[in-house]
Amino acid sequence: MALYCDVSLPVPLDRPFTYSLPETLRHRVQPGSRIIVPFGSRKLAGVILRCHDDRPDVTVRDALRLIDSEPVLDAELLALAGWIAGYYCAPLGEVLRAMLPLASEIRRGKLYSLTDAGRDAARQLVLDCSPDDPVLQVLRMLERRPLSAAYLAKALPLADKAIRSLERKNFIVAEQLQSERDPLRAPADKLRVELDAGAARPAKLPKDERELLAFLELHPGSHNLKDLESTVRNAGTAARSLARKKLVSLLPDRAVAAAGPVRTRHELNTAQMAAFEQLRGAIEARQFHTFLLHGVTGSGKTEVYLNAIDTALACGRGALLLVPEIALTPAVAGQFFSRFGDRVAILHSAFTDVERTDQWRRIRSGAAGVVVGTRSGVFAPVRNLGLIVVDEEHDGSYKQEETPRYNGRDTAIVRAQAAGACVVLGSATPSLESRYNAERGKYSLLELPGRIQERPMPRVELIDMRTEFLETRKQATFSRRLLETVGHRLDNGEQTIILLNRRGFSSFAACRTCGERVQCMNCSVTLTFHRRDRRMLCHYCGYAEKVPSLCPKCQSEHVYFLGLGSERVEDELHREFPRARIARLDRDTASGKRQYESILREFREGSYDILVGTQMIAKGHDIPNVTLVGVVSADVGLGMPDFRAGERTFQLLTQVAGRAGRGHLPGIVLIQTINPDHYAVRMAAAHDYTAFYQKELNFRRMMAYPPFSAMANILVRSAKQEEALRMSTELGHHITPPPEKIRIMGPAEAPVPRLKAEYRYQFLIKAASRKALNELLQRVRGFAEQHKWGATALVIDVDPLTLM
Ligand code: ADP
Ligand code: ZN
Ligand code: ZN
Repeated sequence: MALYCDVSLPVPLDRPFTYSLPETLRHRVQPGSRIIVPFGSRKLAGVILRCHDDRPDVTVRDALRLIDSEPVLDAELLALAGWIAGYYCAPLGEVLRAMLPLASEIRRGKLYSLTDAGRDAARQLVLDCSPDDPVLQVLRMLERRPLSAAYLAKALPLADKAIRSLERKNFIVAEQLQSERDPLRAPADKLRVELDAGAARPAKLPKDERELLAFLELHPGSHNLKDLESTVRNAGTAARSLARKKLVSLLPDRAVAAAGPVRTRHELNTAQMAAFEQLRGAIEARQFHTFLLHGVTGSGKTEVYLNAIDTALACGRGALLLVPEIALTPAVAGQFFSRFGDRVAILHSAFTDVERTDQWRRIRSGAAGVVVGTRSGVFAPVRNLGLIVVDEEHDGSYKQEETPRYNGRDTAIVRAQAAGACVVLGSATPSLESRYNAERGKYSLLELPGRIQERPMPRVELIDMRTEFLETRKQATFSRRLLETVGHRLDNGEQTIILLNRRGFSSFAACRTCGERVQCMNCSVTLTFHRRDRRMLCHYCGYAEKVPSLCPKCQSEHVYFLGLGSERVEDELHREFPRARIARLDRDTASGKRQYESILREFREGSYDILVGTQMIAKGHDIPNVTLVGVVSADVGLGMPDFRAGERTFQLLTQVAGRAGRGHLPGIVLIQTINPDHYAVRMAAAHDYTAFYQKELNFRRMMAYPPFSAMANILVRSAKQEEALRMSTELGHHITPPPEKIRIMGPAEAPVPRLKAEYRYQFLIKAASRKALNELLQRVRGFAEQHKWGATALVIDVDPLTLM
């Protein structure tokens, strides 16, 4: 029994708050459960960190209500949250919020009630105002009982304004309303039923319910409720009643289970087997161990993962497979269903909140021992975790670009260490950091040097676009060689992928007279021309405006368009090959996940000859009939002001080249570039990861970039430029001279100096010691807190992936 609990709240103040526990809660609270507590005039849901009897020095308030009777975060995940908060310098409350998918099951709404002052005012106003004054009406309605914002809005058309004014005068207060959505209400054909593992059965149950339980015991797994109704009497009613008693779980019926090609099991080849044997040894030893599985594109890494997962399950342990954002399509999910059936839970962002919550519950209950998810899947409450696989470990989508700015891959390793689990990082193009860790012996290196069934790597040709221009005297999008080769594919009924690293019709509009580029109102970036809706669009903030007919600066009429985007490339291809069926895949055509999936599926099924797209087409897809990959320009990424530009270009070119020739037909890759001698381009063309790694590593060592230093980026933001400048200058003074082993560059204008209407200055920090870096960053946070900077003024990004 505890008298007090310490609660972490999602507020900027980064410390736990102590509350006293009323009699009714004392026996029920546990660390890791969510609880509702008063905070100022609000009521907030927080996570209990500790229950204790240490009387605080100050008076504390009573906690109000417990949300979870069972903890949603176990000790292991709470400890992981603590690590993230410390390492990434993020408030613990925000970390916990990011970890809980259940936040979404709590519908946000407000419940209004009268304050004492409000009660007095109501009496007074009755005398003073007209009876249909909305302010008075709201007060009178609330005199009877508290009401939700939604109810008030429906009852009174002008309630909104009245509520705001009453709130300002402190006549009414709002309480955050927490109501759980009820999955029990879905129709029977949309639900599946399964036994709750380990639930104690009460002695007495109605006959229908007993029969249903008996059936479920005899037929393990989950069953569609509608189907059950034809087998078991009154199954629908019985199942809902049993679900309320927590003896069975009702889950949404996931349509994805049927989608996608069925993945056949393959006998592992020699290289796969050798890698797998090592993994098996480690998994069976039940000890923390990190492997880097470096396998070229098409070498069959997935098959190795699947066998490793089987091993973990056979040892009675759970497994977690993380994939990049874009790779987790319903088709991929379907493959896992066909392999692991109901033992798999998929955490997919295309799922509804209810679906996701339900998956989460199945994982926690132990019903699902295999979890497939994107970045935040690393927080899935997998029981007795024995294996974490991080596929495409180099992928940038593992890094969250908002607070808490954690990297899912690195977090996975920390989690595995605490759980005594095995980690497999897989990639055809391992990040420099991971490969270097393997070199230093921190990770064990496993290699799949060739494609399965001795299929050849695709032949890569570089096309020097400078020579092309000299020979044709034309500034063309496509070289003659690329056009000719696309033509051959069309003749042979084979498919082509064309990669372009940019959306929109053409990159930007510029004035020929004064050189002005049309820029975003809020961000210091040029707007992109989108022909389909004839608009100029900001790719950072979404701002849109009409295409200018006059230069905004000098009023000249000579506005022209520069660069090229995927829309334009598609257009030109149509002109060159009028009969080809062409699909385009980028963020404009594929706004929804389902759309993205359907374009890819149709391409795979052969409904299109050519797929044009941005980097989202480079990842992971396995389409056997693709024999040509064309890269319009390898140069786009090389010009980025970022020390990772070379690495990114190498990865992108290698990955997209890896889409060619994965079936029985050999593939060819044509890369157009004006930098044919750049080492990233050259070595990607030669499929020479090792040479690239060596060269890049030397560069990093010379410049003391990661992995030879720990890096952090500090961003200072304000809507007013003077403010941003002043704050960053003051912070600069505070951390100068830097402590030993640390170099500070800045304050300087950020590469994008203005973004979403905020001015930005940054410090880039390189540290020879992690500890020193962390101490410095904590000092920076302290400084911001002390000087009462706004909640969004300071951004700390540890191990940043982009420096924009
Ligand atoms: P990677 O992820 O390494 O690029 P995949 O895991 O997608 O490669 O495998 C490429 C293809 O090879 C898939 O279609 C897969 O089903 C097939 N495959 C994997 N292992 C074998 C094997 N041992 N024998 C035959 N085919 C295999
Ligand atoms: Zn001009
Ligand atoms: Zn913008």
